[in-house]
Amino acid sequence: MEGIMQKENEKEKKKETEKCLNCGSSIEKDYILFINGAEYSFDSFECAVNFVAPRCSHCQSVIFGTGLKDAGEIFCNTTCSEKGQIVSMVP
Ligand SMILES: [Zn+2]
Ligand SMILES: [Zn+2]
Repeated sequence: MEGIMQKENEKEKKKETEKCLNCGSSIEKDYILFINGAEYSFDSFECAVNFVAPRCSHCQSVIFGTGLKDAGEIFCNTTCSEKGQIVSMVP
């Protein structure tokens, strides 16, 4: 009996202190992502995307689509891909 009570208290405590992994604000509406078996909680879809989406190697924009992969780097479009190459050639 005591064990069950303790478990419920822990559960409540966890709910109170749950914070968005991206911005740190407390979570009212859960947006939970499961990636490779790990659980990630966020307060909004935007925060979830910001946290997990790749960013353009040149302009740091969040890449929602497939993006352009070039020599191990990812870019949002061809312009950034070309600029990124020029930057990386500068010694
Ligand atoms: Zn957030
Ligand atoms: Zn870009």
